[in-house]
Amino acid sequence: MVKPGEKDSVHLGDVPRPTLSSSQALLKIRKVGIDGTDMEINNGSYGECPTGSDYLILGHECLAVVEDIEGPSDIQKGDLVVPTVRRPDNCPNCVDGEPDMCLKGEYKEHGIKGLHGFASEFGVTDSNFLIKIPQDLEDIGVLLEPVSVAEKGLFHTFKIQERLKWSPRRALVLGSGPLGLLTTFLLRLKGLEVSTVARGVKGSLKSQLVERSGAEYVSTSEKSLNTLGLFDIIMEVTGVSSVAVDAQQLLNANGVMCFLGVYPPRTVSLDVGKVYTDLVLGNRTYFGSVNANKRDFEIGVRDIRQIEKSFPAVLRDMITKVIPLSDFKSAFYPDKGDIKILLDLSAIGKETKDTVLEDSI
Ligand SMILES: [Zn+2]
Repeated sequence: MVKPGEKDSVHLGDVPRPTLSSSQALLKIRKVGIDGTDMEINNGSYGECPTGSDYLILGHECLAVVEDIEGPSDIQKGDLVVPTVRRPDNCPNCVDGEPDMCLKGEYKEHGIKGLHGFASEFGVTDSNFLIKIPQDLEDIGVLLEPVSVAEKGLFHTFKIQERLKWSPRRALVLGSGPLGLLTTFLLRLKGLEVSTVARGVKGSLKSQLVERSGAEYVSTSEKSLNTLGLFDIIMEVTGVSSVAVDAQQLLNANGVMCFLGVYPPRTVSLDVGKVYTDLVLGNRTYFGSVNANKRDFEIGVRDIRQIEKSFPAVLRDMITKVIPLSDFKSAFYPDKGDIKILLDLSAIGKETKDTVLEDSI
């Protein structure tokens, strides 16, 4: 758990077992993935406690088993599930099933904003925001949340481009962290010629995973971005403004660039006239994408299976560590070669109270 707004506040704590109300499900947590958002919350950058609580339990990437469930649902007790992250407010988009396109910003997010996460023995969430995971995907199903973020970015990329006759051939992915890799695999499933760019030199596990999917790995320490030619799709995942600005120059006419990062304040010198003129004369589109719809999780389940079939074990090999909750600190201070670190919570449960990972956001 953390104290939101306080740097390095992540710690273990005891909390009461959550209680179930109508239309909710009690989840016995199996695995939780730690990502950049968790680290930023632990860094004090953001995060919000649930009402009435002075701590926030982290963990929005989760795989769990349904322990108990109330209300009508196609999910049963004993099912393996992944909960979606965001819960709606009362804006028109949220009311219409699009909390990921929220207009008011009063939504809540498990483990991030106003709702506890799942780095705990048990968690509670709304029954109709659960995605059923087939048993054969048990060891990689926890990747569904980051997959859903990539799925949404790509779903909107192709939806936007229905505006014209468009046959994309080349795609550029900026970044080779978990989200960059997952985006690479999904673009390869679509049959695109993909270049994935990152700072690390070739030969690393990240570069091997990129190449196992049939994409090209480009190290910016060996090759400059401006030698790569033009791309029909650019997916910006680094969250580095200078990289995003440089890559904008690589967008082909009629191309689309999707921003999936969060960008710290940065002032850059830029010929804005050229950027806007290129935008107009090339019918180019730049757009941002956050969170994911339930639809993106559902498409993600199908695509996780397809990725494993087409590029054997790339998802399994992305998971570089599975650690017990007691070792949680190593997830927040990963080794250089780590890609995705999971907390294994399936072993806890002997205590009368739940041991949880709090973040003081
Ligand atoms: Zn809303």
